[in-house]
Amino acid sequence: MIIALAADAPISTSVALLDAASTLRKPARTMPDGRGGLIVAIDGSLPDDLLHGPGIRGVHRQHRPYVLASREHRERSVVTVGDVRVGGEVPVVMAGPCSIEGRDSLLRAAHAVRAAGADILRGGAFKPRTSPYSFQGLGEEGLRYLAEARAQTGMPVITEVMEPEQVDLVAEYADIIQIGTRNMSNYPLLRRVGQLRKPVLLKRGMSARVDEWLMSAEYILAGGNMEVILCERGIRSFDPATRFTLDLTAVPLARQLTHLPIIVDPSHGTGVRSLVSAMAVAGIAAGADGIFIEAEPNPEQATSDAAQTIDPDELYQIIQRSRLVAEAMTVRLPQPMVFEAVREFASVAD
Ligand code: PEP
Ligand code: MN
Repeated sequence: MIIALAADAPISTSVALLDAASTLRKPARTMPDGRGGLIVAIDGSLPDDLLHGPGIRGVHRQHRPYVLASREHRERSVVTVGDVRVGGEVPVVMAGPCSIEGRDSLLRAAHAVRAAGADILRGGAFKPRTSPYSFQGLGEEGLRYLAEARAQTGMPVITEVMEPEQVDLVAEYADIIQIGTRNMSNYPLLRRVGQLRKPVLLKRGMSARVDEWLMSAEYILAGGNMEVILCERGIRSFDPATRFTLDLTAVPLARQLTHLPIIVDPSHGTGVRSLVSAMAVAGIAAGADGIFIEAEPNPEQATSDAAQTIDPDELYQIIQRSRLVAEAMTVRLPQPMVFEAVREFASVAD
């Protein structure tokens, strides 16, 4: 059940509700509603006679199962990483190589994507590869290079973690922990990153429904880690012309269903370099809070995902266009202009 408390509700109201839930052995937690008030989320229901404290502005027994991720009674949330606000006004850009391949190549890529306008540096140190014989990443050595790139450029860094046992190590270096598509349903891993107090980027499973994706986010939130960013990265479809199909319908849908910020990954979402720009900008037009792109100075030479990696010049173009499109999406024509146009048309038609 969800109990919405007004901004001026006394603290005694939420305390009484949490006490009642605890007495009945029902897990409960509070979270801000983004408007100054509080949401009390209870796993189960409290009897009516316990729901009378001052400041209760709504009681909802019927709600979506992902109670902490749900948009119900909540403003959209912003995840802050250093100076970067994911879910704010300006689209956020996370860019860098697919894999960290060495110190010099990573530093070169970091400076290049920074110059192109990226906010956050991406790079994989632990790589989920389809074949066990493919390059699996540099591991901790790669994390050290990532930290050096952050020190040189000032950009926060994001990198993937694949196993619960690796979480502490990766969290030592990363500003955002990435959960890849293949691990969206790895519940022990989700629980483990839920114990962190550090942003997590949760990619959608390549065959996962939107509600399953949000339930996975719920695992992280339920651990008390409220800093979750969603990433639509393409789903399996029938057409081998592209690697995956970037499901842009999921973007406005997720915005309706959850308060969590959402970004799009047109690199894995297409698998094709020449399609990345169009789909990045389309993602912003669909309402995404940012983009996640594989980019480096010599894309053709990348050890992993070369076919979808773009160069910094193209990244620069994408970032500029994305900002313009994001701005265009906020435009509201005043109604009188619409009415005027209708009147003019009517007079011409007469
Ligand atoms: C990646 O970002 O390099 C990656 C492996 O992504 P995904 O989990 O979406 O395949
Ligand atoms: Mn990749």
